[in-house]
Amino acid sequence: MYEVSSVVPLDALRNLDHAYDMFFKRCREISGNQKGYPKFKSKKSGGGSFSLRYSIRVSKSRIQLPRIGSIKLKEKEYLPLYGREDIKVLSAAISEKAGRWYVSLRVEQEIPDPILVKDEDKHVVGVDVGVKTLAVTSDGEIFENPKAFVKAQKKLRMLDKAVARKKKGSKNQKKALKKRAKHYQKIASIRRDNQQKASTAITKSADVIVVESLNVKGMRSNRHLSKAISDVGMTDFLRQLEYKALWLGKQFVKADRWYPSSKTCSNCGSIKAELSLGERTFNCGDCGFSIDRDLNAAINLKNLAGSSPVSACCPVGSTSVRNRPKRPPVGQEPNSSSEG
Ligand SMILES: [Zn+2]
Repeated sequence: MYEVSSVVPLDALRNLDHAYDMFFKRCREISGNQKGYPKFKSKKSGGGSFSLRYSIRVSKSRIQLPRIGSIKLKEKEYLPLYGREDIKVLSAAISEKAGRWYVSLRVEQEIPDPILVKDEDKHVVGVDVGVKTLAVTSDGEIFENPKAFVKAQKKLRMLDKAVARKKKGSKNQKKALKKRAKHYQKIASIRRDNQQKASTAITKSADVIVVESLNVKGMRSNRHLSKAISDVGMTDFLRQLEYKALWLGKQFVKADRWYPSSKTCSNCGSIKAELSLGERTFNCGDCGFSIDRDLNAAINLKNLAGSSPVSACCPVGSTSVRNRPKRPPVGQEPNSSSEG
């Protein structure tokens, strides 16, 4: 206990307290299989991390941490420098992932008031979050998944096989696991970097952002989609769009989960009964309009905001019962989040 800063056990206990609070809350709500007793962390799993407070100082290439001392930073001039009057460092969290150490700072900073735009001048952008590409906006901008990301995934499959071939619990398996974890971390970093850049670009370019609500949990149970979806990390991308919109004073709108953004024709408004995931181009049977599938969905989302009063808290589209397809029976895979 005396070897580390007194904040470390304090914060660990606080986290434990929070874990129990949430556990009892879940017990009260009886939310099915989500109940779970807080798990002990182990050396093997649990993502080791701890937090520190007080006397954290950042210089250009080093960070000073209580009890630990001065540590060289790999990424320079990224953290807010010590002495900046507009930023106050509250705490630092140190974590380790696949052999690399990270420090993240929690800071307090005044966000300047956003510039107000008149309602009629607002630029509305619909964003279709996809499987094949990261996102397509109604402006026709396409955010691809990086090539390095696709390439790295092929290697991940190889490393998966390598782990499977080794004897369970052996030293060789441990080595293979370590290698895979490192590679996985690399993939995650590429993805996060790409997502952050895309979400910043989108939120900067729009005044109102309309996205579809994802039923990720439902999607994951769909065998064919599961891999693709967890890879794209849609939930995290939407989360980024939401908080960045908030920071910049932009409106963020989530369409109703059952709004058929992919199945609707953005030209005439007719709704297709069926649209398979393989169909990359939307061809309207009523008006003969032909358009890229994702762009069509993005335009529909944009139109959704224009057709009804936009509000950031309640989903638009939920009021238009006409557009809402029948809710699939329980137990069946609801594919409307991905397909429509
Ligand atoms: Zn049409």
